[in-house]
Amino acid sequence: MEPAPIIVCVECGGRAHLISFAPPDQEYEPGDQLIYRCEDCMDRFDIVHDDIEGPEDL
Ligand SMILES: [Zn+2]
Repeated sequence: MEPAPIIVCVECGGRAHLISFAPPDQEYEPGDQLIYRCEDCMDRFDIVHDDIEGPEDL
């Protein structure tokens, strides 16, 4: 599961880019911290990976 490289900034509606990277040879897992920075307002967002995934099958 790859996290979205760009999300919509909740502050200004601009584009927030993923600036954190998974360790080499590893993939993101649910619960990992993702860091995004908005290119317009330069705000930083820390998002838990699981938050931006679709609904899980339980
Ligand atoms: Zn913004």
